[in-house]
Amino acid sequence: MNANHVKAYFNNQSLMIEMAIKEILDANSYRNFLVGASELIFHNGIYQVFSGHNIKLSKGFPKHCAEKDALIKACDHHFFGELVAVVVASDERQRDELSGKNPSTLHPCPTCRAMFGDLKDHVTRGTIFYMTDLAQINTQEYSFEELVEYHNDDRIKL
Ligand SMILES: [Zn+2]
Repeated sequence: MNANHVKAYFNNQSLMIEMAIKEILDANSYRNFLVGASELIFHNGIYQVFSGHNIKLSKGFPKHCAEKDALIKACDHHFFGELVAVVVASDERQRDELSGKNPSTLHPCPTCRAMFGDLKDHVTRGTIFYMTDLAQINTQEYSFEELVEYHNDDRIKL
């Protein structure tokens, strides 16, 4: 990842965390599984942060993750370029339904990982993923490449 992106991530990290945590207030889950996310996007020479939350109104309700919600917000603002960093905030943890891994923070689900993997012009190996609980005690940081490797996600071609 280029040096300017890394610098922009460090400059925006606290804001990203704050925004992702705030999104929890709007998250809506029938089983109280609340997730907020924020994304630092570089577009036309400008960095901007968008945030979103998960919505799951019932068991059969289509999956709508916080990571996707934040992307949609960026698209709504016609601001969709390179995804520099993603923050996921939640007090939930779960066993990954595809890899079987049991990370100490909530990782993007298999559907979201595939979504990011498909966004070839927007997501790079170096896109940063930072996961935190709401108290910001338990945190993890991976590049997209490391995240894919951790989950042995061979569906995703980097
Ligand atoms: Zn997801």
